[in-house]
Amino acid sequence: MNYCINCIMPDTRPDQYLNSEGICNACLSYEYNKKINWNIRKKELEKIIKNISNNNKNKWNCVIPSSGGKDSTYQAIRAKELGLNPVLVTATTCDPSSIGKANIENLKSIGFDTIEISNSNIVRKKLNKIGLELIGDIAWPEHVSIFTAPIKFALAYQIPLILWGENPQIEYGGPQKSLNNNILDRNWLEEFGGLIGLRVNDFIDNHNFKKEELEIYTYPTKEELRRFKIKSIFLGFYEKWDSIRNFEIAKKNGMVFYEKKLENCYFNFEKIDNYQHGIHDYFKYLKFGFGRATDQLSYCVRRGIISRKEAIEKVKKLEGNYPLSYMGKKTEDILKRIGISMKRFEHICDQFTNKKIFRCDKFGKLIKNNNNNLIKLKYDN
Ligand SMILES: [Zn+2]
Repeated sequence: MNYCINCIMPDTRPDQYLNSEGICNACLSYEYNKKINWNIRKKELEKIIKNISNNNKNKWNCVIPSSGGKDSTYQAIRAKELGLNPVLVTATTCDPSSIGKANIENLKSIGFDTIEISNSNIVRKKLNKIGLELIGDIAWPEHVSIFTAPIKFALAYQIPLILWGENPQIEYGGPQKSLNNNILDRNWLEEFGGLIGLRVNDFIDNHNFKKEELEIYTYPTKEELRRFKIKSIFLGFYEKWDSIRNFEIAKKNGMVFYEKKLENCYFNFEKIDNYQHGIHDYFKYLKFGFGRATDQLSYCVRRGIISRKEAIEKVKKLEGNYPLSYMGKKTEDILKRIGISMKRFEHICDQFTNKKIFRCDKFGKLIKNNNNNLIKLKYDN
């Protein structure tokens, strides 16, 4: 496990590469973004919007995929400023938090039309359980439906534009070719979206789900997409993306955040819409040796908000704590909802832990301290 010499991102992150000088692609991308002529891109966006608005004046002409969080609140406000008539489409999260619900209500109260697409909780809980047990991803349904629900809605209502937020590959790292990508399509979804490891058909073939139970997770067919053309673009491609700025704007417009310290995180204003985020991030830590605090602190290091040294000290304390709660809700209760006991959970955790990253005894058994925390071997090169 090697770390970027500029930020604190390890090369265990999927799609993360360190170049010959030891710099990660997220840092390279950050530098690359400084050289982009954003004026030209702004004009490109205005041209796209003009075309769309002219042809779709008196109807919703843009879908904003929305969780109610800082980025989608900003996107919605920005879309209106740009002259669009957006409808916000929320794929309900797996275990919605009270803050998440309040932020969706907030969007309505500040003047946006919103649609929530929620599928059967019975089906979803089963998917949560299978996802956690098979691929160590409790939130598979959420990871897929946040991509599929907006496009299905746009097709059904013939809405010609979907305006996504940032391209996560640009902010957090991805292959070079993804840095110049402005569109989100099926290829993007399959390569970078939530499908990694499990496909809808796997559930039908191996877990006795009926096709219709998984309708929301099924990406439209080529034929459906051919019949009505939708432009599916990242706003973050056309204008400089800044999560902290987005938060400040969203906060001014009524978005609420978790005012206490958020478990295993550095920021307390993202990943607050679903109680399962803590478990999801802990599995990232077990598999790859880093969690959300690493993402967030690397973001700050790149922007000179804190030093790399400081970030390493902070991440040691913040990250990797065995998840006993998230946003105040006990892990035991989060898991009970989907039929998994704490004992079973601990067993699943061990199964997905990369033993090269954490200290083991001479028999190869993971060593844990009194709080059930693992001991990470390496925090720097
Ligand atoms: Zn870096």
